[in-house]
Amino acid sequence: MGRPRLLVSNDDGYSAEGLHALADALESLGEVWVVAPNREQSAVSHAVTLHRPLRLTRLAERRYTVDGTPTDCVAVALGHLMQGNPPDIVVSGINFGVNMGADVHYSGTVSAAFEGVISGFPAVAVSQQVGEGFTWAHAAAFARRIVEWVLENGLPRDTLLNVNVPLGTPRGVQLTRLGTRRYMEGVIEDRDPRGRRILWIGGGEPIWEAQPGTDFPAVADGFISVTPLHLDMTASSLLEAMRQNPPEWARDERG
Ligand code: MN
Repeated sequence: MGRPRLLVSNDDGYSAEGLHALADALESLGEVWVVAPNREQSAVSHAVTLHRPLRLTRLAERRYTVDGTPTDCVAVALGHLMQGNPPDIVVSGINFGVNMGADVHYSGTVSAAFEGVISGFPAVAVSQQVGEGFTWAHAAAFARRIVEWVLENGLPRDTLLNVNVPLGTPRGVQLTRLGTRRYMEGVIEDRDPRGRRILWIGGGEPIWEAQPGTDFPAVADGFISVTPLHLDMTASSLLEAMRQNPPEWARDERG
């Protein structure tokens, strides 16, 4: 392979430090293109902008913002900026905060990587735990290592690697499954300054279930968690069970 091209995006927006920590770390691996949202787009999931035009702003050589979602950024990069000159990998992050368990369904960081996967490119999403002793350094260094490995070895079709980096100096790496999280207070009700009722989603501290082999206990124990994710969400074991013993509505010959 010639000099690789790497597409970098995120959901924290172009001004986020983690994006530039990642882009800088990957610079020695090839030609880095950064196409990122012009403002924070965390938790927008895989939203795509279909009902208004998008504006692309060139800030420097191979550095762009889009006034849209992370998915928009990757779509604009692959379908316009890098058309005919595609990247060898899509890397998203470094997100300010972990993306573990069901977070991956809300995460713009992971969705930007999945947008690359949908278009047939290998992808890596990188997120950093937030708290005391916070630094980008370990996540950036590990991102460089794992991206180099993916460039050399590739990934199976329709997969990406979801990386979560703990606070402090990582004790090592664990290969994990997605874990399970519960929020204690799903929706908080309060009053605005004018006395009107307001609702706030995502309140309270998340409680993680410490199932062995999952992402949360790995990060909690100080390890970098790497979870391979698959685009195909088919519940294969349920499908197989239902085919073996079809429910009444699946036996209806009228279809
Ligand atoms: Mn974010």
